[in-house]
Amino acid sequence: MIRERAYPVEPWHVRETRLDMDVLAQSESVFALSNGHVGLRGNLDEGEPHGLPGTYLNSFYELRPLPYAEAGYGFPESGQTIVNVTNGKLIRLLVDDEPLDVRYGELLAHERILDLRAGTLHRELHWRSPAGREVKVRSTRLVSFTQRSVAAISYEVEAVNGPLRLIVQSELVANESLPAQSKDPRVAAVLESPLQAEEELTTPDGGQLIHRTKVSGLRVAAAMEHEVHGPDHTTIESEGYQDWVRTTIACVLQPGEKLRVIKYLTYSWSSRRSLPALRDQVGAALAGARLDGWDGLHREQRNYLDAFWDAADVLVEGDPEVQQAVRFGLFHVLQAGARAEQRPISAKGLTGPGYDGHAFWDTEMFVLPVLTYTQPSAVRSALQWRHSTLDSARERAETLNLRGAAFPWRTIEGPESSGYWPAGTAAFHIAADIADAIRRYVMVTGDVQFEREVGLELLVETARLWRSIGHHDRHGQFHIDGVTGPDEYTAVKNDNIYTNLMAQRNLLAAADVVMRYRDEAFHLGVSDEEAASWRDAATSMHVPYDEELDVHQQVEGFTRLQEWDFTHTPAEKYPLLLHYPYFELYRKQVVKQADLVLAMHWRGDAFTPEEKVRNFLYYERRTVRDSSLSACTQAVLAAEVGHPELAHTYLREAALMDLHDLNENTRDGVHMASLAGAWLALVSGFGGLRDHHGELSFAPRLSSRLNRLEFSLQWRGLSLRVDVRPHQTTYSLRHGSPDDVVELRHHDQVLRVSCDEPVTVPVPPAEPSGPPPEQPPGRSPLLRLPEHVNEQ
Ligand code: BGC
Repeated sequence: MIRERAYPVEPWHVRETRLDMDVLAQSESVFALSNGHVGLRGNLDEGEPHGLPGTYLNSFYELRPLPYAEAGYGFPESGQTIVNVTNGKLIRLLVDDEPLDVRYGELLAHERILDLRAGTLHRELHWRSPAGREVKVRSTRLVSFTQRSVAAISYEVEAVNGPLRLIVQSELVANESLPAQSKDPRVAAVLESPLQAEEELTTPDGGQLIHRTKVSGLRVAAAMEHEVHGPDHTTIESEGYQDWVRTTIACVLQPGEKLRVIKYLTYSWSSRRSLPALRDQVGAALAGARLDGWDGLHREQRNYLDAFWDAADVLVEGDPEVQQAVRFGLFHVLQAGARAEQRPISAKGLTGPGYDGHAFWDTEMFVLPVLTYTQPSAVRSALQWRHSTLDSARERAETLNLRGAAFPWRTIEGPESSGYWPAGTAAFHIAADIADAIRRYVMVTGDVQFEREVGLELLVETARLWRSIGHHDRHGQFHIDGVTGPDEYTAVKNDNIYTNLMAQRNLLAAADVVMRYRDEAFHLGVSDEEAASWRDAATSMHVPYDEELDVHQQVEGFTRLQEWDFTHTPAEKYPLLLHYPYFELYRKQVVKQADLVLAMHWRGDAFTPEEKVRNFLYYERRTVRDSSLSACTQAVLAAEVGHPELAHTYLREAALMDLHDLNENTRDGVHMASLAGAWLALVSGFGGLRDHHGELSFAPRLSSRLNRLEFSLQWRGLSLRVDVRPHQTTYSLRHGSPDDVVELRHHDQVLRVSCDEPVTVPVPPAEPSGPPPEQPPGRSPLLRLPEHVNEQ
């Protein structure tokens, strides 16, 4: 955990004012830059020391065998692991005859700033070498949002005393050795030298390397070129070998003089394109980068982000830490998806190798809802990626003797990469999660072309899956048996309430969409009887309920399982999955992460307000939050059932997950779902945003700590701004013509908001809240946050 306040609270920056070697790996994730295609961890320019070197390209993976002690039918045989590709961030510096290495000599000052509006990572340091030579280095790095394969670094050295002889070595290095990993299942497999050299090429001011993976057969090209501004007699030359290319710049600086090097870096990869084609592609990308130059790239980056923030910014008054954290979260969510272009958005984005770089349901249920309302083009492309994996999902369904498409629990390219059935393939709810993301995207954008060309087929194939997994019992009730819901501490059970309710919506959405596109549905082989059978299954879906306790059951029979002995579970035994056998977790009432509570968020229309209150109290007492996908949902529901202060604490946990390394694994990459969750906690929690049945509704009500929350939502080409104050809310509409109108619900009132005039309405007083919810001993969100955070 990051114990001390690592980053001062500022609205638009994440600033590290001194280099803390103990949390180097964490800060590399926090400071990672990406555009969804290329990802660079925040490693120091000189490469060492490092926590974990990392350069990633979306979907560039290697296959590795998934060995089983006892194999079984349908077990996936190989898994995919993201590859640390050629490192182009490296810029080493020799000051007279000593390498700049912050572990030696004296680091007189060191600061790094992630600038959320500029989209850059800036670093300044002042170093005295063991021989007393002093330099100041200023470097700025960006991964371009506008030129997808381009990254660039401006590296400037100033001689403080001297004269100094400076040698800058800027490199491309493949097959870097990586530190050994722990046995924690959440980290990645380490691949030894995964890249085979195919070609190296040097020019005086740069060079390129082309490699190929051994098993997956993917080819990657990385290229660099430099622009040098130095004193007279500055020299530049390059040399290369199989796994590295080095450009060396040498000069002598007088005190106060500067050397500035601009490094342009480009990547491309392909499973199909030839070596000459990739060589040309990186060459062309370099030409594009040089055409704009550093200033141009920098300006374009700023313009891109200005547009994003105009559409997406959230203003939080009353909790400056949350203000910073929600922007930091939105920035990372954007980075993960902006230019992914029909590739997955993985659980860590491109910030680290955690979970082998796999995409999970995190994307559809946490990240995409945020992007749908802030950057919908990224959602279209993420769902197009799912669509592109349909064949593999159909094949998987066939292997499992099911119909339709069985999407993988975790994957990079499409095939199932999970080797553990109970917390893997059995979590079939991924199908309904994808369907819900489609429904929301189409509702918010009105993109009917997407609905017809992409959404329809996905909805049909997922509905078929549900119809074939589930069955009608002798009373006609529809059950989905033997599946795992979001709570991975309860596995392979019957009628998981989240799965059933989400599948119900999936089945109905499919039955509706085939009515709209009859010809296209006919081509997919959908008959009227088939669509009617989906409706039937949906309307007779079983929703498990305990009549005696008057609460819903997370799965059939959940409330009669043995209780977990929380009193005798010491703090160091969390997360439970690392300390108890699954056998024990599976048969007791202990909840890893919001499951039924998540159902009450996304299928809130299926519960009465009283049921929500009772269910929340019951499941709070049994939820340990061993997953980072929980706090935000607990915030949303705590706000809805009248516990805004608790909601605020959960909001803080979700928002500060990575800035404070609360789960002690930020080193492997940021928790994208939790970062997106900060937005959800604010907008769906305190703003009360829901989008059931095509209707936009709000139930704003702030915690006592907040005096203002303002957010924007993209809605069919318009921008709806919601400004929530303690006693009133103002809705206004931008970017439309005078007759554009949005109809929405504010608590129980229907409002029509036009571009002409904002509408201000009072926030009705809160209903009296019931008894305060309790968490398992030691699991209160207040205790999870480090003391210095709570003291705020
Ligand atoms: C959670 C899953 C999640 C995965 C990746 C697990 O710990 O239980 O719900 O999809 O992490 O974030």
